[in-house]
Amino acid sequence: MLIARYAISGEIFYGVLEGDKLHRLAGTPFASFDRSGVTDRLDAAQLICPVEAPRIFGVGLNYVAHIQESGAKTPETPLLFMKPSGTAIGPGAPIVYPHEGKNVHFEAELAVVIGKTARRVTKADALGYVLGYTCANDVSERVIQKVEMDQGALLVGKGFDSFCPLGPVIATDLDPTNLKIGARVNGETRQASSTSDLLFGVADLVAYLSSAMTLLPGDIIITGTPSGVGPVVPGDVVEIEIEGVGVLSNPVVAERP
Ligand code: MG
Repeated sequence: MLIARYAISGEIFYGVLEGDKLHRLAGTPFASFDRSGVTDRLDAAQLICPVEAPRIFGVGLNYVAHIQESGAKTPETPLLFMKPSGTAIGPGAPIVYPHEGKNVHFEAELAVVIGKTARRVTKADALGYVLGYTCANDVSERVIQKVEMDQGALLVGKGFDSFCPLGPVIATDLDPTNLKIGARVNGETRQASSTSDLLFGVADLVAYLSSAMTLLPGDIIITGTPSGVGPVVPGDVVEIEIEGVGVLSNPVVAERP
């Protein structure tokens, strides 16, 4: 099932996407998949960020080939950070290249959408707490990121407003262990990998995070990026594609003076 969050006629709904139709849900997919009975046309709706202002947990150095290209040591526990909720934007929304930006990179990532409150869940049970999956772009300002990480911290380099496009839809019923994942910039392929290369898989990450903190419905875990990351500049269009989810496309625009 593909679940979209969308705006139409000044209101916001969740709906199940089937062909060119959106079947409105009575509430949110975190409560039930009950439909309201109203149907909207996809081409009349604007798809928006699948979760409003989510908590976003990020994982660094989690694809084997990306660890090799970074020249970094393989982490023994997941290397975690957070992105502020203001980083989250939806499909088509602009990634704003900040005044402080010197070397802003795209990163294609599989995003996990938590469906149910999870605390101390086992790896065997972890996927039962996941609503579904969507595409993420973990946009990162590398110069600031390096300054921060040299001091043992990471926030601003990953945390500028609009630095976490998510979407276009939440796909349920996917096996997250072997999905094709890739990125294109202006139509040119830059990343092409599979989630089978993940060091810590989705179940590992849900179990590990929930051993320390309660995960809530709507929380997002972005699971790390494969090799092939690189810079973008204003005027570029970045597309993240994940098998079974679709394509998340966002333009890069310069911050206004
Ligand atoms: Mg990343």
